[in-house]
Amino acid sequence: MVVVKDLKAPNLSWEAFLEFDKKIQGPEMKMLRNDKKYTKKDFERLELKPPRKIVGRETGYFFEANGYKLKVWTTILEDQQKPRDKGEDVGWVLIVKGDILIHCSKPFLRTSDEFFTRILKTAWISRYKILNIPLCRECKRKMEIIRNAKTNQTYFSCSNVEGHKEKKNIRESWDKPIEGKKLALEFIKDRRKQTANYKKRNKKLGIEPVSKRLTRKKWKIGRPENLKK
Ligand SMILES: [Zn+2]
Repeated sequence: MVVVKDLKAPNLSWEAFLEFDKKIQGPEMKMLRNDKKYTKKDFERLELKPPRKIVGRETGYFFEANGYKLKVWTTILEDQQKPRDKGEDVGWVLIVKGDILIHCSKPFLRTSDEFFTRILKTAWISRYKILNIPLCRECKRKMEIIRNAKTNQTYFSCSNVEGHKEKKNIRESWDKPIEGKKLALEFIKDRRKQTANYKKRNKKLGIEPVSKRLTRKKWKIGRPENLKK
């Protein structure tokens, strides 16, 4: 079981989802719909075992650029025209390279009417970032996206140390591509504030904060040697 504490009944109408679905596939985002987390080939290649019984097909979207794949999961079960039951799952925006997770947003709880809007904005920002990967400020090579799995922090890095004055990796902030993008930066700031408020509220209620990213049960990979990097 994923530890999810949705405190308020979400107001997520099917109409709101359809609006979101139209926008995320529309000309500005051009994300493709995908209702399978893994293909049959992935199952064979990695000998995958789901963490729990998977009921229904959840609607997701993806977009690829510069060797990175952006994935958006909504918890929406289209055949039932509703989100997965509360407590079972949350919304996620992820970036992977091959099979390796390199960016993971904070989970989207279905506690607000803005659930879809927040996912859409986060997806827009992540999409913009993988389309606009910065060049190294010293050697001008395209940087790589790196994730520190312990802290879940993502940043850009260039490891071409020979081309650098101090012979060290060069790092740039994860928000580098959206420098000067006022709306995007405001949204990120708001979301950080929401997270802080959520933590504060939980503390008041005596709820021990548990990172959903860490408590989330993962798929079992029987053949890790076949993971694509
Ligand atoms: Zn460089």
